[in-house]
Amino acid sequence: MSVSGKDEDIKIKDLIKRARKFAEPFRITNGKSFRLKDIDPGDTLHLQSEDKPRAKEVLASGVQLLAELQDMLYAQDRWSVLIILQAMDAAGKDGAIKHIMSGVNPQGCQVHSFKAPSPEDLDHDYLWRCMRLLPNRGNMGIFNRSYYEETLVVRVHQEFLAKQKLPPELVTKNIWNERFHDIRNIESYLTRNGTIVRKFFLHVSKDEQERRFMERIENPDKNWKFSSSDIKERAYWDDYMKAYEDMIRNTATKEAPWYVVPADNKWFTRLVVAAAIIDALASLDLHYPKVDKQKLDELAEARKTLLNEDGNGKHSKKKNSDKRG
Ligand code: ATP
Ligand code: MG
Repeated sequence: MSVSGKDEDIKIKDLIKRARKFAEPFRITNGKSFRLKDIDPGDTLHLQSEDKPRAKEVLASGVQLLAELQDMLYAQDRWSVLIILQAMDAAGKDGAIKHIMSGVNPQGCQVHSFKAPSPEDLDHDYLWRCMRLLPNRGNMGIFNRSYYEETLVVRVHQEFLAKQKLPPELVTKNIWNERFHDIRNIESYLTRNGTIVRKFFLHVSKDEQERRFMERIENPDKNWKFSSSDIKERAYWDDYMKAYEDMIRNTATKEAPWYVVPADNKWFTRLVVAAAIIDALASLDLHYPKVDKQKLDELAEARKTLLNEDGNGKHSKKKNSDKRG
């Protein structure tokens, strides 16, 4: 698995196994019987708030493992990983990204946030702006909101649909099912081309959202996070929940599952998301590229050149002094 020793390998394999098991209850691969009301936003499985410090330690090991896996993903340059985060405001998307990705090499990981579409975006089909920003091979791409907004905010506020300049005969009552169909197909296409797709809905309760909004209003350091439009959107809570449920029912697939993650406790949310991403990366059998005979000869030649630099070479001298010391 890695360049580390045997004990280390066993530890890593164990962590991967635990990550898979931990994320599994939240993974939806077939949405047919999915009901949002079955998921409690306050769920922390068997963990209590006194387990929080231990959970933070586990997250730190997870973050480190994730960084190692990403390093191999990048070196191998075969697969790419698309991570989609969807949620109501203040559910903790930004914090999850910040914490979970804190160890990864920024060179191989890009985050893109999708807000209201620009006039240029509206001059194209709705997938266009997202497809231009898909991760390169060897990279992880995180979409903070995504084309799924086209079945959420656009469905809840149908005036957005009117702005999309679609030919009127194409806008029928079937449009949402058509969008689900197209999204399933595009995710299937991506999977077949080496981009693995994992989708997360951070499920926060309405009460917890209120508490977080109040904190943003009352804490001067958090004022910048508050936007009065968040309160307006909150008024459409039930419509959003219906749209989320329908979206998950129609777009959860084996190849591109949704994770519906309880989001009332940030420490728990981050553990589940990290575990699911570790599971996804570990499923790829990543390894550093193997070097062929020609490359090994090249390395041996380079080694000789370096050792012979400056006369007899300081490296060989250092080795001798290391032995003495
Ligand atoms: P924050 O945590 O900072 O609030 P955010 O992701 O909510 O992050 P905002 O700038 O507050 O960012 O909001 C982006 C807004 O853009 C959201 O309300 C979202 O619904 C909206 N949006 C995203 N995609 C579309 C779309 N295709 N059509 C219309 N609105 C969209
Ligand atoms: Mg917002």
